[in-house]
Amino acid sequence: MQLPREVIVGDKTLDLVWDICRRLGFSESVFVITGPSTFRIAGKRAVDSLADAGVNTDHLIVSSSTMWDVRAAEGRIHEVKPQVVLGIGGGTKIDVAKLSSARQGVPFISVPTTASHDGIASPVASIKGLHKPYSIMAQSPMAIIADTHVIAQAAHRLVASGCGDVLSKFTAVNDWRLAHDLKNEYYGDYAASLALMSAMLVVRNAEIIRPGAEEGVRIVLEALISCGVATSIAGSSRPCSGSAHLFSHALDVIAPNPALHGEQCGVGAVMMSYLHELNWRQLRTTLRKVGAPTTAEELGIEPKFIVQALVEAQSIRPERYTILEERRLDSKSAERLARATGIIK
Ligand SMILES: [Zn+2]
Repeated sequence: MQLPREVIVGDKTLDLVWDICRRLGFSESVFVITGPSTFRIAGKRAVDSLADAGVNTDHLIVSSSTMWDVRAAEGRIHEVKPQVVLGIGGGTKIDVAKLSSARQGVPFISVPTTASHDGIASPVASIKGLHKPYSIMAQSPMAIIADTHVIAQAAHRLVASGCGDVLSKFTAVNDWRLAHDLKNEYYGDYAASLALMSAMLVVRNAEIIRPGAEEGVRIVLEALISCGVATSIAGSSRPCSGSAHLFSHALDVIAPNPALHGEQCGVGAVMMSYLHELNWRQLRTTLRKVGAPTTAEELGIEPKFIVQALVEAQSIRPERYTILEERRLDSKSAERLARATGIIK
């Protein structure tokens, strides 16, 4: 079990990058992976402060998270031989940094600039394949440095998406329990409880998760980080990724213009909660409160793709037993489900 050694969440924590690197013993050489706009927002500040402190600092700018990007990053890490790799940015940069550093046997520090999904703290990297993204076990970040001030400046849509990802843990844990009861799959109560606690945290604090509110951003970050830790403890994404995630992955394949990962997971979780006979109305209300989409229209996805994704979701990852395997929706029952929960009109 690999867990982060330092988790720093707060205002202006970006200024602490050098301190944290030094504390962890990385005071000689650091390699930074960042994106074109995140370099301006946060990457440059970190690179400059490390260089000013006399650290050998190199950086690479990536704009997507394909295997090609990972290999390019690996090449640079192999050449520079840094003590640590910092991933500074939203999802894609952190994914590239996480996987390329793991493959080169170098520790990794996560410096998220958005709170849009739990990849900022989990050991899993999501890499874009030819037709669909796929998940690879990489490594847990050795530290997470999340600057709430920087993250609160980003579009609120990203924070709301993070809430959707966290809320989908309600159904992920129930899918996991189902797989344990019916398929004798390993089930870890501690990891499951941690994922559920994170989801409850968002439900309880939905009122303060508002555009520009740093306090709300902090709650979402803490919840996302706990989810990442739950994945590390379980040794698989089981506590965090179930039927709602399969639905989101299916939309990524089917829909011409998919929405954000967490937005799709949130909508998926409303429908999967209905199937699991959980409190799907409370989940939908929470999504509305935080400003996340709760209908196909708000997702910007045509109803027919919602129905198709429900039907095809389980086939995206057949070995992951979920409520969808039990119910085996056809297009009629899928449409009924989407209508009953108000996702389509
Ligand atoms: Zn997710």
